[in-house]
Amino acid sequence: MEELKEEEKKSLNFIEEIVEEDLRSGKYTSILTRFPPEPNGYLHIGHAKSICLNFGLALKYGGKTNLRFDDTNPVTEDTEYVDSIKEDIRWLGFEWANEFYASDYFEKLYGFAIRLIEKGLAYADDSTSEQIAALKGTPTEPGKESPYRNRSIEENLQLFGEMRTGKFKDGEKVLRAKVDMASPNMQLRDPILYRIKHALHHRTGDKWCIYPMYDFAHGQSDSIEHITHSICTLEFATHRPLYDWFIEKLEIFPSRQYEFARLNMTYTVMSKRKLLQLVEEKYVNGWDDPRMPTISAFRRRGYNPESIRLFVEKAGVQKRDNLIDLALLEFYIRDQLNKIAIRRMVVFDPLKLVITNYPAETEWLKSEDNPEDKDSAQRDIPFSKEIYIEREDFMENPPKKFFRLAPGQKVRLKSAYIIQCEQVVKNDDGGIKEVRCIYLPESKSGGDHSGLKVPGTLHWVSIQHAVTAELRLYDRLFKVEDPSNEEGDFKEYINPDSLHIIRSAFGEPCLKNAKFDDRYQFLRKGYFCLDQDSSEEKLIFNRTVTLKDSWGKENKKN
Ligand code: ATP
Ligand code: MG
Repeated sequence: MEELKEEEKKSLNFIEEIVEEDLRSGKYTSILTRFPPEPNGYLHIGHAKSICLNFGLALKYGGKTNLRFDDTNPVTEDTEYVDSIKEDIRWLGFEWANEFYASDYFEKLYGFAIRLIEKGLAYADDSTSEQIAALKGTPTEPGKESPYRNRSIEENLQLFGEMRTGKFKDGEKVLRAKVDMASPNMQLRDPILYRIKHALHHRTGDKWCIYPMYDFAHGQSDSIEHITHSICTLEFATHRPLYDWFIEKLEIFPSRQYEFARLNMTYTVMSKRKLLQLVEEKYVNGWDDPRMPTISAFRRRGYNPESIRLFVEKAGVQKRDNLIDLALLEFYIRDQLNKIAIRRMVVFDPLKLVITNYPAETEWLKSEDNPEDKDSAQRDIPFSKEIYIEREDFMENPPKKFFRLAPGQKVRLKSAYIIQCEQVVKNDDGGIKEVRCIYLPESKSGGDHSGLKVPGTLHWVSIQHAVTAELRLYDRLFKVEDPSNEEGDFKEYINPDSLHIIRSAFGEPCLKNAKFDDRYQFLRKGYFCLDQDSSEEKLIFNRTVTLKDSWGKENKKN
């Protein structure tokens, strides 16, 4: 029994251990976490990690999670982002207890700042940002005090009030905390609490012209909401003493901050600033371009939320930064899609095949939608005298072990018959115009009594019944594993072949009825889903993922 407990403990991540201890010791009776996105871009797979962690903890320990928009920077924020963030969290499968906005706390935060001034712990500083930086010192050298540091409480109260009422221009003054200019922790060298910014805010409009800085807004918002465990990424570890300083001096609810490593993934970039550049400079077609690492892009590309949650969980909760292989995410997607995807035949690059001994009529053949599913539905596929096969599935002079079609060779057409190639008809330019075959009527799939075993099975479509579709084949967006860590601009490492479009592929007629939620496996080709650009006139499919990890193989070869 004890051993079992030990085992369970080992499988907990370090934050779960802290939470369990806090509940066991009675420090808290229930936990409250929060997910605090800044609405200045779309959520990416890194955010998914934070979402799964915060919401996951609350679900596991019977607590709650708030969604709090950290909207303290008026210039970069937008309601479009707010809406997309909510949609993405819900799509991932989570629901928040409360929807809050840091901007709703502006009045309270202002009050907190006044309280600090009254305690002699904050002051208005007229220095320019350059002057402040010059006095800040270095990690090994203490900073120097600002000439404005010892203003009286009354003067500070008056100046801060005037900052609020708009007496000063942007940058003319800031409010700083009076902590310690000689602290070895640079974050404690009189951090800025408020700056002046005459800008419209997406929620408060022109009500405010002073805005709180991240450190002042974030921790105090946690405290206002009584967040028990405030989980953030490692780069904020050095901010923790300041987080605690505010709580102590303001005597407010003691939220606690814990840091974990960001999730980074190979062959992409993960900072919103960089993703925004890709969008604005049109390297991709918007935030939800299926090549992006955003949640909305994954959704459009046909990934399902389960696979993203599994991936994020597998990546673990670490205390050291790491780079997770995109192949792991693709592994989970494939695994899920293999179970649920409906099988269809689509010819990407057609070669005409005429079955000379087949009557001029249509026969409807049966095939299973998904052989992985024992309750799979069946569909009808039309078979006729003229069909398309994949150009690469035929060779006039094949090498040994080419188990596809070649003169004199036999193959099976999936769910249909065995055929044998009799003749190759050429164009004037020597290219192959069509291939002529005979079929073996006794070899019909499901009732085969030909006694023949052929090694190859090809996908095909009947020409007169085929529907045409555009296919969008995606590859990795970058040529190198970690573009942010290479010399020069990350955009130099963009993969120029990350999108390949096939304008007209030929598919089974039932694809006409494809729905956005359907997941397909185009036999021998990959997993696909209908793209949102698709219409009745024009079918468009995205390749979600290839059938196998061909990159892995290629890399091994090299
Ligand atoms: P970016 O650097 O991509 O702009 P951010 O940290 O500025 O990200 P926020 O909107 O502030 O973006 O993030 C909301 C929450 O998601 C924060 O708690 C942040 O720590 C977390 N988060 C952001 N990126 C990652 C990541 N790559 N891995 C894990 N958590 C992340
Ligand atoms: Mg941020």
